[in-house]
Amino acid sequence: MSKEKLYEGKAKVIYTTDNPDELLVYYKDDATAGNGAKKGTIMEKGILNNKISAFFFDMLAENNIEHHYISMPSEREMIVKKLDIIPLEVVLRNVAAGSLAQRLGVEEGTKLSTPVLEYYYKCDELGDPMINQFHIKAMNWATEDELAQIEKLGLKINDIMTKYLKTKNIDLIDFKLEFGRYHGKVILGDEISPDNCRFWDSETHEKLDKDRFRRDLGNVEDAYKEILHRLTGEKA
Ligand code: ADP
Ligand code: UDP
Repeated sequence: MSKEKLYEGKAKVIYTTDNPDELLVYYKDDATAGNGAKKGTIMEKGILNNKISAFFFDMLAENNIEHHYISMPSEREMIVKKLDIIPLEVVLRNVAAGSLAQRLGVEEGTKLSTPVLEYYYKCDELGDPMINQFHIKAMNWATEDELAQIEKLGLKINDIMTKYLKTKNIDLIDFKLEFGRYHGKVILGDEISPDNCRFWDSETHEKLDKDRFRRDLGNVEDAYKEILHRLTGEKA
Protein backbone atom coordinates (compact mmCIF):
# COMPACT_ATOMS: atom_id res chain seq x y z
CA MET A 1 0.00 0.00 0.00
CA SER A 2 1.43 3.45 -0.88
CA LYS A 3 1.76 5.41 2.36
CA GLU A 4 2.44 9.10 2.09
CA LYS A 5 2.14 11.03 5.33
CA LEU A 6 -0.51 13.70 4.77
CA TYR A 7 -0.77 15.13 8.26
CA GLU A 8 0.48 14.51 11.77
CA GLY A 9 -1.84 15.73 14.51
CA LYS A 10 -1.60 15.58 18.29
CA ALA A 11 -3.06 12.09 18.61
CA LYS A 12 -3.05 10.58 15.12
CA VAL A 13 -1.13 10.46 11.85
CA ILE A 14 -2.97 10.42 8.54
CA TYR A 15 -1.57 8.60 5.47
CA THR A 16 -2.76 8.22 1.90
CA THR A 17 -3.61 4.76 0.56
CA ASP A 18 -3.78 3.29 -2.96
CA ASN A 19 -7.44 4.27 -3.01
CA PRO A 20 -7.89 8.05 -3.45
CA ASP A 21 -11.20 7.82 -1.58
CA GLU A 22 -9.60 6.26 1.53
CA LEU A 23 -7.05 7.22 4.19
CA LEU A 24 -5.11 5.30 6.80
CA VAL A 25 -5.29 6.66 10.36
CA TYR A 26 -2.48 5.69 12.77
CA TYR A 27 -3.35 6.15 16.47
CA LYS A 28 -0.40 7.36 18.60
CA ASP A 29 0.21 7.07 22.35
CA ASP A 30 0.88 10.83 22.57
CA ALA A 31 -1.43 12.77 24.86
CA THR A 32 -1.88 16.53 25.08
CA ALA A 33 -4.11 18.77 27.15
CA GLY A 34 -4.79 22.50 27.32
CA ASN A 35 -4.30 22.83 23.54
CA GLY A 36 -0.83 21.24 23.68
CA ALA A 37 0.39 23.04 26.83
CA LYS A 38 0.65 19.70 28.68
CA LYS A 39 2.27 16.80 26.85
CA GLY A 40 2.75 13.15 27.77
CA THR A 41 2.36 9.55 26.75
CA ILE A 42 -0.38 7.16 27.72
CA MET A 43 0.92 3.60 27.25
CA GLU A 44 -0.97 1.72 24.53
CA LYS A 45 -3.50 4.57 24.17
CA GLY A 46 -3.25 4.29 20.38
CA ILE A 47 -4.32 0.66 20.44
CA LEU A 48 -7.08 1.24 22.98
CA ASN A 49 -8.52 4.30 21.21
CA ASN A 50 -8.41 2.59 17.81
CA LYS A 51 -10.37 -0.37 19.16
CA ILE A 52 -12.80 1.77 21.21
CA SER A 53 -13.48 4.06 18.23
CA ALA A 54 -14.05 1.11 15.90
CA PHE A 55 -16.49 -0.34 18.42
CA PHE A 56 -18.48 2.91 18.64
CA PHE A 57 -18.53 3.35 14.85
CA ASP A 58 -19.87 -0.21 14.41
CA MET A 59 -22.46 0.33 17.13
CA LEU A 60 -23.57 3.62 15.54
CA ALA A 61 -23.80 1.98 12.09
CA GLU A 62 -26.22 -0.55 13.58
CA ASN A 63 -28.27 2.50 14.55
CA ASN A 64 -28.18 3.90 11.00
CA ILE A 65 -25.51 6.55 11.57
CA GLU A 66 -23.16 6.90 8.60
CA HIS A 67 -19.46 7.20 9.50
CA HIS A 68 -15.98 7.04 7.97
CA TYR A 69 -14.68 3.79 9.49
CA ILE A 70 -14.03 0.95 7.01
CA SER A 71 -11.59 -1.57 8.49
CA MET A 72 -8.78 -2.16 11.00
CA PRO A 73 -5.62 -3.47 9.29
CA SER A 74 -3.67 -3.45 12.57
CA GLU A 75 -4.17 -2.68 16.25
CA ARG A 76 -3.14 0.96 15.79
CA GLU A 77 -4.53 1.62 12.31
CA MET A 78 -7.90 2.13 10.73
CA ILE A 79 -8.84 2.63 7.09
CA VAL A 80 -11.40 5.39 6.72
CA LYS A 81 -13.31 7.21 4.01
CA LYS A 82 -11.45 10.38 3.07
CA LEU A 83 -13.64 13.28 4.21
CA ASP A 84 -13.54 16.98 3.50
CA ILE A 85 -13.48 17.79 7.22
CA ILE A 86 -15.75 20.66 8.33
CA PRO A 87 -13.49 22.72 10.66
CA LEU A 88 -15.77 22.43 13.71
CA GLU A 89 -15.54 20.64 17.02
CA VAL A 90 -19.11 19.71 17.79
CA VAL A 91 -19.49 19.22 21.54
CA LEU A 92 -22.52 17.49 23.07
CA ARG A 93 -23.19 17.74 26.80
CA ASN A 94 -25.57 16.02 29.20
CA VAL A 95 -23.97 17.03 32.49
CA ALA A 96 -21.99 20.20 33.23
CA ALA A 97 -18.25 19.52 33.41
CA GLY A 98 -14.95 21.04 32.31
CA SER A 99 -15.20 24.38 30.52
CA LEU A 100 -19.02 24.58 30.77
CA ALA A 101 -19.03 24.11 34.56
CA GLN A 102 -16.40 26.86 34.80
CA ARG A 103 -18.10 29.25 32.41
CA LEU A 104 -21.54 28.97 34.04
CA GLY A 105 -20.18 28.76 37.58
CA VAL A 106 -21.98 25.51 38.36
CA GLU A 107 -20.65 22.47 40.13
CA GLU A 108 -19.20 19.76 37.93
CA GLY A 109 -21.76 16.97 37.80
CA THR A 110 -24.82 19.26 37.57
CA LYS A 111 -27.34 17.52 35.28
CA LEU A 112 -28.47 19.62 32.31
CA SER A 113 -32.25 19.64 31.73
CA THR A 114 -31.74 19.13 27.99
CA PRO A 115 -28.65 18.17 25.97
CA VAL A 116 -26.47 21.13 24.95
CA LEU A 117 -24.75 21.33 21.56
CA GLU A 118 -21.82 23.72 21.17
CA TYR A 119 -19.55 24.62 18.28
CA TYR A 120 -15.84 25.42 18.48
CA TYR A 121 -13.75 26.55 15.51
CA LYS A 122 -11.06 23.89 14.95
CA CYS A 123 -7.94 26.05 15.00
CA ASP A 124 -4.99 25.24 17.28
CA GLU A 125 -3.39 28.69 16.83
CA LEU A 126 -6.53 30.35 18.20
CA GLY A 127 -7.11 27.72 20.91
CA ASP A 128 -10.35 26.41 19.33
CA PRO A 129 -12.61 29.40 20.14
CA MET A 130 -16.28 28.83 20.86
CA ILE A 131 -18.52 30.05 18.02
CA ASN A 132 -22.18 29.86 17.02
CA GLN A 133 -24.19 29.11 13.88
CA PHE A 134 -23.96 32.73 12.73
CA HIS A 135 -20.13 32.71 12.73
CA ILE A 136 -20.13 29.40 10.86
CA LYS A 137 -22.44 30.66 8.12
CA ALA A 138 -20.76 34.09 7.93
CA MET A 139 -17.36 32.42 7.48
CA ASN A 140 -18.76 29.84 5.01
CA TRP A 141 -17.39 26.95 7.10
CA ALA A 142 -20.68 25.10 6.59
CA THR A 143 -24.00 25.83 4.94
CA GLU A 144 -27.34 26.16 6.69
CA ASP A 145 -28.32 22.74 5.38
CA GLU A 146 -25.05 21.14 6.56
CA LEU A 147 -25.51 22.69 10.01
CA ALA A 148 -29.02 21.29 10.21
CA GLN A 149 -27.63 17.82 9.38
CA ILE A 150 -24.82 18.18 11.95
CA GLU A 151 -27.26 19.22 14.68
CA LYS A 152 -29.64 16.37 13.94
CA LEU A 153 -26.82 13.81 13.76
CA GLY A 154 -25.10 15.17 16.90
CA LEU A 155 -28.26 14.92 19.01
CA LYS A 156 -29.11 11.48 17.62
CA ILE A 157 -25.59 10.16 18.29
CA ASN A 158 -25.77 11.56 21.83
CA ASP A 159 -29.06 9.77 22.40
CA ILE A 160 -27.80 6.43 21.03
CA MET A 161 -24.49 6.59 22.92
CA THR A 162 -26.04 7.71 26.22
CA LYS A 163 -28.54 4.85 26.20
CA TYR A 164 -25.96 2.28 25.12
CA LEU A 165 -23.35 3.34 27.68
CA LYS A 166 -25.92 3.26 30.49
CA THR A 167 -26.19 -0.51 29.90
CA LYS A 168 -22.45 -0.67 30.63
CA ASN A 169 -22.84 1.36 33.83
CA ILE A 170 -21.24 4.41 32.24
CA ASP A 171 -22.66 7.96 32.22
CA LEU A 172 -21.86 9.93 29.07
CA ILE A 173 -21.13 13.39 30.48
CA ASP A 174 -19.98 15.13 27.28
CA PHE A 175 -18.06 14.43 24.08
CA LYS A 176 -16.67 15.97 20.89
CA LEU A 177 -17.48 14.95 17.32
CA GLU A 178 -16.14 15.94 13.91
CA PHE A 179 -18.04 15.71 10.66
CA GLY A 180 -16.98 15.87 7.02
CA ARG A 181 -18.33 15.87 3.50
CA TYR A 182 -18.28 12.63 1.52
CA HIS A 183 -19.84 12.43 -1.95
CA GLY A 184 -22.35 15.16 -1.17
CA LYS A 185 -23.31 13.88 2.30
CA VAL A 186 -22.28 14.95 5.80
CA ILE A 187 -20.97 11.94 7.73
CA LEU A 188 -19.24 11.31 11.06
CA GLY A 189 -15.42 11.24 11.10
CA ASP A 190 -12.42 11.37 13.46
CA GLU A 191 -12.60 9.23 16.65
CA ILE A 192 -14.82 8.45 19.62
CA SER A 193 -12.67 7.49 22.59
CA PRO A 194 -11.78 8.47 26.17
CA ASP A 195 -9.60 11.19 24.59
CA ASN A 196 -12.65 13.14 23.49
CA CYS A 197 -15.46 11.92 25.72
CA ARG A 198 -16.11 12.22 29.43
CA PHE A 199 -17.16 8.83 30.80
CA TRP A 200 -18.09 8.50 34.48
CA ASP A 201 -18.89 5.27 36.27
CA SER A 202 -22.65 5.48 36.91
CA GLU A 203 -22.39 4.43 40.56
CA THR A 204 -19.05 5.69 41.85
CA HIS A 205 -18.77 8.64 39.39
CA GLU A 206 -15.14 7.64 38.89
CA LYS A 207 -13.69 9.35 35.81
CA LEU A 208 -12.80 6.85 33.06
CA ASP A 209 -11.38 9.26 30.48
CA LYS A 210 -8.68 11.78 29.62
CA ASP A 211 -9.50 13.95 32.64
CA ARG A 212 -7.31 11.46 34.56
CA PHE A 213 -4.38 12.73 32.45
CA ARG A 214 -5.49 16.39 32.31
CA ARG A 215 -5.89 16.56 36.11
CA ASP A 216 -3.09 14.17 37.16
CA LEU A 217 -5.52 11.75 38.80
CA GLY A 218 -3.39 8.64 38.13
CA ASN A 219 -4.41 5.24 36.68
CA VAL A 220 -4.84 6.78 33.22
CA GLU A 221 -4.11 3.60 31.22
CA ASP A 222 -6.36 1.56 33.50
CA ALA A 223 -9.30 3.87 32.80
CA TYR A 224 -8.92 3.48 29.01
CA LYS A 225 -8.57 -0.31 29.44
CA GLU A 226 -11.69 -0.39 31.62
CA ILE A 227 -13.71 1.35 28.89
CA LEU A 228 -12.54 -1.15 26.23
CA HIS A 229 -13.32 -4.00 28.62
CA ARG A 230 -16.82 -2.77 29.46
CA LEU A 231 -17.62 -2.23 25.77
CA THR A 232 -16.15 -5.36 24.22
CA GLY A 233 -15.30 -7.72 27.06
CA GLU A 234 -11.68 -7.60 25.88
CA LYS A 235 -9.01 -7.44 28.58
CA ALA A 236 -6.18 -5.24 27.24
P1 ADP B 1 -5.49 17.29 15.83
O1 ADP B 1 -5.52 17.68 14.38
O2 ADP B 1 -6.56 18.03 16.63
O3 ADP B 1 -4.15 17.35 16.45
P2 ADP B 1 -5.51 14.36 15.50
O4 ADP B 1 -4.11 14.10 15.93
O5 ADP B 1 -6.57 13.44 15.99
O6 ADP B 1 -6.05 15.80 15.90
O7 ADP B 1 -5.49 14.38 13.93
C1 ADP B 1 -6.40 13.76 13.12
C2 ADP B 1 -6.82 14.72 12.02
O8 ADP B 1 -7.47 13.99 10.99
C3 ADP B 1 -7.79 15.77 12.50
O9 ADP B 1 -7.39 17.03 12.01
C4 ADP B 1 -9.13 15.34 11.90
O10 ADP B 1 -9.95 16.44 11.60
C5 ADP B 1 -8.69 14.63 10.65
N1 ADP B 1 -9.61 13.57 10.20
C6 ADP B 1 -10.33 12.70 10.95
N2 ADP B 1 -11.04 11.85 10.19
C7 ADP B 1 -10.78 12.18 8.90
C8 ADP B 1 -11.23 11.69 7.63
N3 ADP B 1 -12.07 10.65 7.54
N4 ADP B 1 -10.79 12.29 6.50
C9 ADP B 1 -9.93 13.35 6.59
N5 ADP B 1 -9.46 13.85 7.74
C10 ADP B 1 -9.87 13.29 8.89
N1 UDP C 1 -12.89 18.02 23.75
C1 UDP C 1 -12.09 17.48 22.76
N2 UDP C 1 -11.18 18.28 22.15
C2 UDP C 1 -11.01 19.58 22.47
C3 UDP C 1 -11.82 20.13 23.49
C4 UDP C 1 -12.75 19.32 24.11
O1 UDP C 1 -12.22 16.30 22.44
O2 UDP C 1 -10.15 20.26 21.86
C5 UDP C 1 -13.90 17.18 24.43
C6 UDP C 1 -13.54 16.87 25.88
O3 UDP C 1 -12.88 15.62 25.98
C7 UDP C 1 -14.88 16.81 26.56
C8 UDP C 1 -15.78 17.74 25.72
O4 UDP C 1 -15.11 17.90 24.48
O5 UDP C 1 -15.42 15.49 26.48
C9 UDP C 1 -16.01 19.10 26.37
O6 UDP C 1 -14.76 19.65 26.71
P1 UDP C 1 -14.67 21.04 27.51
O7 UDP C 1 -15.20 22.13 26.65
O8 UDP C 1 -15.26 20.89 28.85
O9 UDP C 1 -13.12 21.33 27.56
P2 UDP C 1 -11.98 21.01 28.59
O10 UDP C 1 -12.53 20.96 29.97
O11 UDP C 1 -11.41 19.71 28.10
O12 UDP C 1 -11.06 22.18 28.36
